[in-house]
Amino acid sequence: MIEVSGLVKRHGALEVLRGIDLAVDRGEVAVVVGPSGSGKSTFLRCLNGLERFQAGSVVVDGLPLDPWSVDRHREAVLRQIRTRVGMVFQGFNLFPHRTVLQNITEGPIHVLGLDRDEADHRAVALLERVGLREKIDARPVQLSGGQQQRVAIARALAMGPRAILFDEPTSALDPRMTAEVLSVMADLARDGQTMIVVTHAMGFARRVADVVHVFDQGVVVESGPPTAVLDNPSQEATRRFLTETL
Ligand code: ATP
Ligand code: MG
Repeated sequence: MIEVSGLVKRHGALEVLRGIDLAVDRGEVAVVVGPSGSGKSTFLRCLNGLERFQAGSVVVDGLPLDPWSVDRHREAVLRQIRTRVGMVFQGFNLFPHRTVLQNITEGPIHVLGLDRDEADHRAVALLERVGLREKIDARPVQLSGGQQQRVAIARALAMGPRAILFDEPTSALDPRMTAEVLSVMADLARDGQTMIVVTHAMGFARRVADVVHVFDQGVVVESGPPTAVLDNPSQEATRRFLTETL
C-alpha cells in the first residue's frame, strides 16, 4: 500500500531524513514513535506530497511520488494524493467559519465532485460513526478539542482515503478527550483502515498497532510488533526514547 525506500530530505545542510525504508501493508496500522526532531512529521508530509524530498522513492497505493514529479506536476500530484491519503493533525485544522457538516462535505463536493445530497448523506453516516450526529450544525468553536478532532477524522474519511496519516492527533487533548479520539481510531483500525499514526500514546500503540517504527535522527532504528519493540527493544536509541517518554 505504501512503499518508501531510501527517502532523503534535507533542509539546507541539515539532513532531516537520512534514507528511510518503510512499508505499510493494506489494512495495517503502523505507529511511528521517536524523539522530538527525529523527522516523524517531515516523513508524513513527504507521504502526502506536502514536502519535497531530495532522493529516494515513495509509492502510495500505486501512485509514485518522486522528487521530480512532486516538483514539476505539483498540482496534479497533490490532487491525486488528496483523494488517496487523508491527514489528521495535532491542531484540528477545521474551517472555523463553516459548520461541522460543511467542513466534512467540502472535499467530497469540490475534489471528488459529489453532489450535495450525496455528500450530506455520507457526512451524516460518518458523524454517526464518530459519535457526533447531533453536532452537525455546530461551528468548530462550539466543540471540545476531542469533538473537533473527531470531526477532523470524519472529514478525512469522507474522501474515502486508502490510508490516513495521523500526526500526534491527541497531543493537544486532555486524557478524557484523548481516550475518545483514540477509541474512534481503534474502531477504524478494526474496520481495516490503513493508517500511519505518529503518537506518544503507548497504550494505543500496544493495543492497536501491527508494527511500531522507531525514528531517531532521521532513520528508522527499529521496527517490529509493539510487544517486541516496546517491551524488549533491541536498540539503545529505542531504550533511551522509552525511558524518556514513560
Ligand atoms: P516532534 O516530535 O517535535 O514533532 P518530529 O519528529 O516531528 O518532532 P520534524 O518536525 O519532522 O520532527 O523535524 C525534523 C527536523 O527537521 C528538526 O530538526 C527540525 O528542526 C527540522 N525542520 C523541520 N522543518 C524545517 C524547515 N522548514 N526548515 C528547516 N528545518 C526544518
Ligand atoms: Mg512532529
